[in-house]
Amino acid sequence: MKKTTVDLRESPEERRQRAQRIFRKLKRAYPDARCELNFSNPLELIIAAILSAQSTDRRVNMVTPALFSKYRTAADWAQVPQEKLEKEIKSTGFFRNKARAIRTLTRELVEKYGGRVPEDFEALVALPGVGRKTANLVMVSAFGKPGIIVDTHCSRVAQRLAFTRNTDPEKIEQDLGALIPRKDWGRFSHCMVFHGRYCCKARRPECDRCPVADDCPSRTA
Ligand code: SF4
Repeated sequence: MKKTTVDLRESPEERRQRAQRIFRKLKRAYPDARCELNFSNPLELIIAAILSAQSTDRRVNMVTPALFSKYRTAADWAQVPQEKLEKEIKSTGFFRNKARAIRTLTRELVEKYGGRVPEDFEALVALPGVGRKTANLVMVSAFGKPGIIVDTHCSRVAQRLAFTRNTDPEKIEQDLGALIPRKDWGRFSHCMVFHGRYCCKARRPECDRCPVADDCPSRTA
């Protein structure tokens, strides 16, 4: 087993430099890092994000083409009867809650925003069923604005790389935000998610082929 050379007593500045180095390597390793949910507008992305809870992007991408061609506006979604929607999204799991969440959310979009998804983080997190992760995903991927998407992969990688000691996603978001310039937050978090999904996996991280192993205090090979 190769020992890490990372000194965990590093100063905040040293950690920022290590984070920048890691980011450069991750960008090279994952040049296409992006949201893997298929969508063509902010409404589709927010619906896909709700469907992706406890499911996989691949599974959601199998279900959404038929839905997106049938329901094009927030009003279309808000008017689908609960039971009908449940059947249509059943394969993504937790379909009752998700159908309810989609109907409640889209009703609110119609009532408050004329059916549009607001391009504002605070307005997004105030919507029913929309947490910080989804709000950041929409800001980054649908609107091209800065945001740090802390999902299970990003959170695990951030801990293994000693970018954070926190487990609360909002605190992890703050810790990561302090390491990387705001303009790069979106790209950085997509890289972190890709790295967690395809290399630094939950059960068996593939440290022997990891592009950032030299800068990782948790390497196991
Ligand atoms: S060296 Fe291992 S634990 Fe560290 S980031 Fe790479 S895969 Fe994850």
